[in-house]
Amino acid sequence: MRIPFIAGNWKMYKDMAQARGFALKFKTLYHGTDVKTAIFAPYPQLALLVEEFKGTGIGVGAQNVHFEKEGAFTGEVSIPMLEELGVDYCLVGHSERRQYFGETDETVNLKLKALLQSSILPLVCVGENLSEREAGKEKDIVSGQIKAAFSGIAGEDAEKVTVAYEPVWAIGTGKTATAQQAQDMCECIRQTLAAMYDEETADKIIIQYGGSVKPDNASEIMDMPEIDGALVGGASLDPLKFIEIVNF
Ligand code: PEP
Repeated sequence: MRIPFIAGNWKMYKDMAQARGFALKFKTLYHGTDVKTAIFAPYPQLALLVEEFKGTGIGVGAQNVHFEKEGAFTGEVSIPMLEELGVDYCLVGHSERRQYFGETDETVNLKLKALLQSSILPLVCVGENLSEREAGKEKDIVSGQIKAAFSGIAGEDAEKVTVAYEPVWAIGTGKTATAQQAQDMCECIRQTLAAMYDEETADKIIIQYGGSVKPDNASEIMDMPEIDGALVGGASLDPLKFIEIVNF
């Protein structure tokens, strides 16, 4: 059985005081029973969140990482550095990283492989842009991203990865994919994984939808059989909105 997983992506928002304020409030609201949750925060806030969320069941994730263990890579952060902080998860291939920072299918694959050798669980993002959807190519694009991301990864490792389907045209735009569009693509992702591995492995992988998820559309999205969770940007900045989504 797949346990729903609702994750918040703070992007480049919140200073220390705001992050602490969120954590103090959110941990009084979250009574983690049947839904997993985590906050993906900027690097400077990670240690604070790990400390504040200790013993609450609320996970903490980074938004990016380098695939090498160490080296002359100015400005980068390694997986051992995140492990030392006690981080639980790491985003890989968010569309903003692909769009603005040169993340490619190849670096996504290298990062997934490196994270799967560590104690940190990867959450990999895939999704088509507007012109790709308008050209009717969205399933080819997304299944291509999945094949590239999981290339060379064994089934027992693939099961540990969370996938977030995030159509680029729905991120931060207020435009949500319809629940049916999200369901169709999550089904296509699971079929792609089943073809790469087998049905049993594909059935274990958590697939989230992300793109303008809000308290008022979360339950319709979460009702879809192939959607196991959500990756939430803007609405995860407010503990009251985020808990409403977690409690869909
Ligand atoms: C995101 O940052 O991954 C995201 C889906 O953002 P938003 O919910 O703001 O569209």
